[in-house]
Amino acid sequence: MAIINCPECGKQVSDQASSCPSCGNPIKNKVIEQNLQAMAAEKDYRKYTLRKSRKVLCILSAIFIVGYLGIAGSPDLAINRWEIIMVILAVLGVIIGFAKPDNMVTVLLTGVFYALAGIVGILCHGNVKETNAMAIIMIGFGIVFFISYWRMKAYE
Ligand SMILES: [Zn+2]
Repeated sequence: MAIINCPECGKQVSDQASSCPSCGNPIKNKVIEQNLQAMAAEKDYRKYTLRKSRKVLCILSAIFIVGYLGIAGSPDLAINRWEIIMVILAVLGVIIGFAKPDNMVTVLLTGVFYALAGIVGILCHGNVKETNAMAIIMIGFGIVFFISYWRMKAYE
């Protein structure tokens, strides 16, 4: 319970009072309504931040993929079939995650693709030493997307 100023007459009134004793302006329902509005705005803001961070993460992973291909793609290193599969899975994650950052299914799928890319990268005994680093980054991104999915569920 708190003492607020009546929005109509400015006199002090309890926020639990159904109406202002001085002017009769309804108080309690208005306070509840304002709280609900504030909560909805907070929820929207969190959803927006989550969405933005997922997009940033997709851009980051695209940069990592390009960087990895720049190092590993040179002909004398010759990445193997599994390393190519890792890159394809990671690219799928980027495309899906960036195209539909608001959809819970695609957010989950993005996490799955990143995690799979990482697992393939770790298990493949790649020809390039950067493959392990790439795989660990992808698993990290996958975990972040799983967390993001879980947070999204909380704000639905
Ligand atoms: Zn009043």
